[in-house]
Amino acid sequence: MKLLENKTAIVTGASRGIGEAIAIKFAEHGANVVFTYLSSEERAKNLEEKLIAFGVKAKAYKSDAGDYAAAEQLTNDVLKEFGSIDICVNNAGISKDNLLLRMTAEQWDDVMQANLKSVFNLTKQVIKPMMKARNGSIINLSSIVGMKGNAGQSSYAASKAGIIGFTKSVAQELGSRNIRCNAIAPGFIETDMTHYLNDGGAEKWFEKIPLNRFGKPEEVANVALFLASEMSSYVSGQVISACGAMNT
Ligand code: NAP
Repeated sequence: MKLLENKTAIVTGASRGIGEAIAIKFAEHGANVVFTYLSSEERAKNLEEKLIAFGVKAKAYKSDAGDYAAAEQLTNDVLKEFGSIDICVNNAGISKDNLLLRMTAEQWDDVMQANLKSVFNLTKQVIKPMMKARNGSIINLSSIVGMKGNAGQSSYAASKAGIIGFTKSVAQELGSRNIRCNAIAPGFIETDMTHYLNDGGAEKWFEKIPLNRFGKPEEVANVALFLASEMSSYVSGQVISACGAMNT
């Protein structure tokens, strides 16, 4: 059964990792998919072709998620070309880990802009067509680090905690328009962002994870599919962890 037929989804930062898995999962389920990237031109082109092979419309946009004007341009372009925006996944994100003593103001600002302002930028744009349609699902990628904190990740944790407050507020503000807004909080997922975890052996991390392994991007994409689809029609303002019980 296809869960997203006749829906149009935007996924930010989908040239790699979790975003890529979400874009593929959505196309598999019949959604037209627009996705963004920052610099991975070739990977984005390849993904666009892969998505089209599912028989859906798909388009890659080079668009900086941290740039407010770019989010406005992206939304206008998508509406012109695809006609509607039913699902928005704010996935693009970075980490610039450092102990607070060594963290520069520039590192802090970069993380806030890419991870938190980005979520404001695109959500502010997509709610306009969603309000008109009285329908929409917004999914924001937070992290268990946004709930637990983590030494060396104060900027990342603050940005991901900010996403949770934003998600819950948007859900309350726009519920009456049938717009749902939820967050996903992954634990350690095997992507470029976490490749450093393999330095010195991945096993040492597994004792912190009751399921005894890292997660796969597809396992996060399954949660996104649930939240994007009508399967979750009464779920809003929630944070769903996909962390192998690392955070309970
Ligand atoms: P990743 O493998 O590093 O991929 C990041 C993606 O975001 C890439 O497609 C990148 O594009 C894009 N991107 C980065 N900055 C961007 C910007 N300013 N504008 C547009 N696109 C941008 O990351 P990931 O591990 O898949 O993480 C995806 C999301 O899940 C992030 O929000 C991350 O914080 C969150 N998360 C990840 C984990 C984990 O364990 N991996 C855990 C918890 C939460 P380019 O390829 O062009 O650079």
